[in-house]
Amino acid sequence: MAESTFASRSYRDDGVVLRTYKLGEADRIVVFLTRQHGQVRAVARGARRTRSRFGARLEPFMVADLQLVHGRSLDIVGQAAARASYGTTIAADYPRYTVAAAMAEIAERLTASDSDASASQYLLLVGALAALSRGAHAPGLILDSYLLRALATAGWAPSFTDCARCGEPGPHGAFSAALGGIVCSDCRPPGSPAPAPDTVRLLAALLAGDWPTADASEPGARREAAGLVAAYAQWHLERAVGALRLVEREPTVP
Ligand SMILES: [Zn+2]
Repeated sequence: MAESTFASRSYRDDGVVLRTYKLGEADRIVVFLTRQHGQVRAVARGARRTRSRFGARLEPFMVADLQLVHGRSLDIVGQAAARASYGTTIAADYPRYTVAAAMAEIAERLTASDSDASASQYLLLVGALAALSRGAHAPGLILDSYLLRALATAGWAPSFTDCARCGEPGPHGAFSAALGGIVCSDCRPPGSPAPAPDTVRLLAALLAGDWPTADASEPGARREAAGLVAAYAQWHLERAVGALRLVEREPTVP
């Protein structure tokens, strides 16, 4: 009966590797964001051996078709078949790597306890990694678009047109991370930044996935937008997003 017990504890899902930890001499704990089961922590036995049957399929940012087995505390990776090897191209390029690491860190935090939106978060992250891997847009733009959309999916959708507090139709000239984005002159807290109109247009484009507008943006707007997106993410995640400080901003489109 051991086999049927094993089968009943086993499940299949697609997962993207967010992070890995060493365990013992040869094993690895892998943190996945899965399509249907939210965030999963699983042991990959022998994954650090040179000739591991998992190969490089359980490295960060890899997407795999997984067979997992429920365990007492951690699940166990039975099989992993590569679906997309974004990790290889991303790891070879430092600016892309730091962006991918920041996205994985945010995804890990946003899906730690909430699995309701995990399918949407999975698709957002895999889409962003694919764009990063093929160099579809400047890495910093991919990161900022990902952050805005991941936060919106988690229930913190910013507003970049109408006032985020009172709803007065925009455009408006002030930004408040605490109030949820762009705010009118009545709602504006003292000392809140006043971003350039081009920056606000870029933020709206990044949230909407309007890439023609985002790709055509100027370096100044990108820098200012990146600072506001980081402030917005930090406010909503309630502690400093360490990985964002490592991101090297590319002023030009690749
Ligand atoms: Zn207002």
